[in-house]
Amino acid sequence: MSKLRDTSLRDAMTGLYNRRFLEEFIDTLMSQATREKNSYSVMMLDVDFFKMVNDTYGHDIGDKVIVEIGKLLLGSIREADLAIRYGGEEFIIMLHNASKEGALQVAQKIHQAFAALVFEVGNGETIHKTLSIGIARFPEDGDTIWKCIKYADTALYVAKTTGRNKIVEYTKEMSEMENFR
Ligand code: GH3
Ligand code: MG
Ligand code: MG
Repeated sequence: MSKLRDTSLRDAMTGLYNRRFLEEFIDTLMSQATREKNSYSVMMLDVDFFKMVNDTYGHDIGDKVIVEIGKLLLGSIREADLAIRYGGEEFIIMLHNASKEGALQVAQKIHQAFAALVFEVGNGETIHKTLSIGIARFPEDGDTIWKCIKYADTALYVAKTTGRNKIVEYTKEMSEMENFR
């Protein structure tokens, strides 16, 4: 497990795990979860209209938003959970053995706390930003964690295309949409 602390598996900006961590350890995590009959709620989070922050206020302000998400996510999860910076302004949280309701509550807490953050953009001006969140559950929704990540991404896509600033739980009906992504 000491390898898990390897800096090459952490994102320098936020201190969260990076995508490489996920790629290297997901199979181990999944076999362990299957063996121990554990579940994971997989959440994919993406900042709404983030590009606008960079374009309007500069890359440094954009970076500040990303750093704040990192802090918020780390403060919102337990030791057995995982927080990963999956892409630029896209994050994955994996909640260990959370109930469907419990996972939704965590998502709501993060969603609200992020919306309440105030970002100073210079000249005394401030802005607020919002998150869209997609959730899928291992093993109920998919029998591999990769499938659940894909399904969480599908749910996120639904959140994005139906107005953003919301939390969407994956349902089987959404699976037809995968072909359009
Ligand atoms: P949507 O609501 O659909 O998610 O729109 P969006 O503008 O958030 O999405 P998009 O994927 O177009 O923009 C993501 C932007 O994030 C583009 C990229 O330049 C920026 N980005 C990626 N990594 C970083 C980073 O480390 N720092 C900063 N400041 N910007 C980053
Ligand atoms: Mg975005
Ligand atoms: Mg994005």
